[in-house]
Amino acid sequence: MSEKQTCVNCPGHPTRVVFITRQGRRVVQCRRCRLQFAEKYPDYEEAESAIYGQDYFRGSIDKLKQRKNVFSELLAEIELVLRRKGRLLDVGAGEGTLLKVAAKLGWGAEGTEIASAMIRYVRDELGLTVHKGILEEIELPESSFDAIVLNHVLEHVKNPRTTLEKVARLLSSSGVVRIEVPNLASLSSRAKNLQSLLNLKKDPWKHYSTGHHFWFFTPRTLKKTVETSGLSTVFMNAPAKQWGTKNPLHRFANAVCKRTLLGGHLIVYARVQNHVSTPNA
Ligand SMILES: [Zn+2]
Repeated sequence: MSEKQTCVNCPGHPTRVVFITRQGRRVVQCRRCRLQFAEKYPDYEEAESAIYGQDYFRGSIDKLKQRKNVFSELLAEIELVLRRKGRLLDVGAGEGTLLKVAAKLGWGAEGTEIASAMIRYVRDELGLTVHKGILEEIELPESSFDAIVLNHVLEHVKNPRTTLEKVARLLSSSGVVRIEVPNLASLSSRAKNLQSLLNLKKDPWKHYSTGHHFWFFTPRTLKKTVETSGLSTVFMNAPAKQWGTKNPLHRFANAVCKRTLLGGHLIVYARVQNHVSTPNA
């Protein structure tokens, strides 16, 4: 285990302990900006082999068809914001489904990944480009991507700020990044937090997934991290379900949660700060 983590929004600022899991993992909260995070981050080698082995991606591979639908809708949304297709980078590409769908739809798609088994699969079976390693350490041409996707990735990385600073360097002047993370301020999380506090759950704080999640964002703390990293928020929403659902009830719940930011999937679109046009500028 490495040394203690610090708030990426306010480095060195004091924290308070939110809870300690039965395995002894401590989740803390910055006293200034209220960002919550795991006090320790596993070593990279440990993370690659212990957390992101083939089992980690089994669920994704089992749900390929559903994921293809979700990613088609996700890419349609990006195209709507960007107003075109272009060069796309999927950070933490996993089994490569998003890349595959994007390539088929005419995007110039490439990815990054740390899990060796998934990299082999994407390169050998799908014939797509994937760079090995963490984003900060991969050499890619600056200002060269029109769209960057971090789909349930930012909660896993060692330092969300250096990750997003790299994103800001890689984005073209008109490019957009789409970040999606679990929403700590969702109705469901709020209920589970309360149940955990009151000791009403068999396995309290399980919903934090502290085995592989290390940063726990609310709309407010995510916006702060995005804007501390040289990016500017375009918009946020928080659907209840990842799309790809035809169920009318789910679609209605998504519409309500998107507006209220109470759904489980917190989404932010951002652009490079210097290139955001402001009124009267
Ligand atoms: Zn802070």
